[in-house]
Amino acid sequence: MPEPIQLETKDGLYLPEADLWLDPHRKHRWAFVSHGHADHFARHDRIITSKPNAHILRARYNVTPSRLEPLEFQQPFDHKGFTIRLFPAGHIYGSAMIHLTRKSDGATLLYTGDFKARRGLTAEEPVFRQADTLIMETTFGKPQFVFPTITEVSGDILNFVNTALEEGATPVLHAYSLGKAQEALAILTEARIPAVLNSATAKMTTACREAGAGLPEPVLFQGTVPAGSCLICPPNSLHKDKYKGVENPRSAMLSGWALIPGAKYRYRCDAIFPLSDHADFPGLLEAVNRIRPKRILTVHGFTQEFATELRRLNHDAWSIDGDDQLELALRV
Ligand SMILES: [Zn+2]
Repeated sequence: MPEPIQLETKDGLYLPEADLWLDPHRKHRWAFVSHGHADHFARHDRIITSKPNAHILRARYNVTPSRLEPLEFQQPFDHKGFTIRLFPAGHIYGSAMIHLTRKSDGATLLYTGDFKARRGLTAEEPVFRQADTLIMETTFGKPQFVFPTITEVSGDILNFVNTALEEGATPVLHAYSLGKAQEALAILTEARIPAVLNSATAKMTTACREAGAGLPEPVLFQGTVPAGSCLICPPNSLHKDKYKGVENPRSAMLSGWALIPGAKYRYRCDAIFPLSDHADFPGLLEAVNRIRPKRILTVHGFTQEFATELRRLNHDAWSIDGDDQLELALRV
């Protein structure tokens, strides 16, 4: 059996044999950037990323093309003794998982970045490739997080929007400008409800469209919302001056955290719906079952809780930010 691909976890995720960082916060020579959210990006010398995300990085952060190594999904790429392939992660449009194979002995590693197990409306369908070592995000890694299907949650959101319109209110959907906003736009478009988007959200929608996402051309919010339309804008933006012209707003937040009691008060909105761009707890387990790894590292969110659950299921699993390697040693 080949030795595992070396992984260093001090100061981020680093693969020394491939001289490659995975979604590092600080600038490095070579980095894989899984998707366009700011907490996964820095201005690296060279960036390996998916072709659609390369376009999004250029639009969002003005990255010069010479720094980008855009790969088609599943296209093999030779890098310092490894074959790299990217697979869709299903998190937001263009989001990717990276799979490495060490050419000398066939050892493999998969890093998921942020991912979703079920297909949403705008991101590509996730593809889970088998790997010996799995590094996975576990944002919702506790059993209480079981999301409704996209059909159920879309139905609830549309009920909210239609009721607001019938009662003469302006429906406002709060969604992050990249990812959730496009998902909200897709839900409204399917139901033929017109939407206006704030500038950041419109800009990211245009970037996704140019990168290949099947979305309508965004209509820009210019101070008022036409009758019969819905406004899509970022969380907590309604108190800003430029939204003063929105009459009788009725707001809803779209977030997986909706499942936490009291979330609606925390987000200061009238309603909250569990539309998430991450895997829920069963989705995380499903990913592990499909990837069939020999060892697992959990890296975001409820890392220790999910690693404990995986060990209970007889996986060799540990979390990046805990003492559970010691706990594991003591258990043996
Ligand atoms: Zn993300």
